[in-house]
Amino acid sequence: MKPIPMVDLGVQYERLKPEIDAAIAEVMAGTRYILGPNVQALESELADFLGVAHAVSCASGTDALHLALRAAGIGPGDEVITSPFTFIATAEAICYCGAEPVFVDIDPRTFNLDPERVAAAVTERTRAILPVHLFGQPADMAALSAIADERDLTLIEDCAQSFGATHDGQQTGSIGLAGAFSFFPSKNLGACGDGGLITTSDDELADEIRMLRNHGRRVDGYLHEVVGYNSRLDELQAAILRVKLGHIDEFNRQRRRVAASYGERLSDTALEIPFEDGLGRHVYHQFTMLVPDGRRDAMQAALRDASIASAVYYPTPLHRQPAFSGYSRAGSLAHSESVAERCLSLPIFPEMTEEQIDRVADTLKAAL
Ligand SMILES: *Cc1c(COP(=O)(O)O)cnc(C)c1O
Repeated sequence: MKPIPMVDLGVQYERLKPEIDAAIAEVMAGTRYILGPNVQALESELADFLGVAHAVSCASGTDALHLALRAAGIGPGDEVITSPFTFIATAEAICYCGAEPVFVDIDPRTFNLDPERVAAAVTERTRAILPVHLFGQPADMAALSAIADERDLTLIEDCAQSFGATHDGQQTGSIGLAGAFSFFPSKNLGACGDGGLITTSDDELADEIRMLRNHGRRVDGYLHEVVGYNSRLDELQAAILRVKLGHIDEFNRQRRRVAASYGERLSDTALEIPFEDGLGRHVYHQFTMLVPDGRRDAMQAALRDASIASAVYYPTPLHRQPAFSGYSRAGSLAHSESVAERCLSLPIFPEMTEEQIDRVADTLKAAL
């Protein structure tokens, strides 16, 4: 039987091939490979789409987090509250600034930071809150914004998985001081290589980030105000992303269709399908469910036998990673630990057919 991958980038390329190939050919012939017209146009198109004054592209989602935190003044001695149930880059970026990640537990239904626990974890040294809109569902930004306002903290959003998701009608990345996006190929808006983006409506912050991403210079030339980085999005990726941006609403609609189809087929089983908290629009970067205790290996084996991919995002919460053994936590992280033991992500991508969804659902039901 034809394998069903987690994400099928091949069918997407086939569908968009004429547009993408033409865009690539134009860049090649134009020879402006770094910070050229496509990067400029993409940044302005993204700022419009996301409802922010500034969209500054960079080399990766990890860099986007790092540059946003650094430009916001996060540094040694500062604590940044974040989730332990995320990709490691979220916390790495905090460490790059010399600050300390403080891991706070999640709401086990949404997999996102629990605002009540965040409020309880704030100390004298807390400078920022870094929520992750995990799997494409916005974190509770109303509650987190209220905490940040009251305690005078900086709120920066990890939007790597949430391109196009909205919270109370606002795009993720337009709510906090800044948002950090990733264009890693498998993300909802994915390039054909690495790429990232910082969004903000703060003019000074945007200037600072533009300077940091380009060796600490404000304008072309050789005057460097600070020690910066080489973290630019390349022109080929920008051209490809401009093509894909034209289809992103359709991609996200199709992801929601796949999630709804899975939901219909799996809701009367022992599997706990994703919970939508109704605060915003989930864009299903992943379709991640909770399986009954101790059954995950068997479910994955059954899927594998039927040539169906599955993945565990994420098997080890960050506070359990050797890399973060020296860092602190605030309170119990029991939900993050139990979710890490029971989570299972299924294939999901815009082009997934109803037949493929049936095959995955039938295989899971038979395995239960
Ligand atoms: C992918 C991802 C990142 C990092 O993005 P890269 O572009 O791979 O550097 C950061 N945070 C989360 C939650 C991610 O999923």
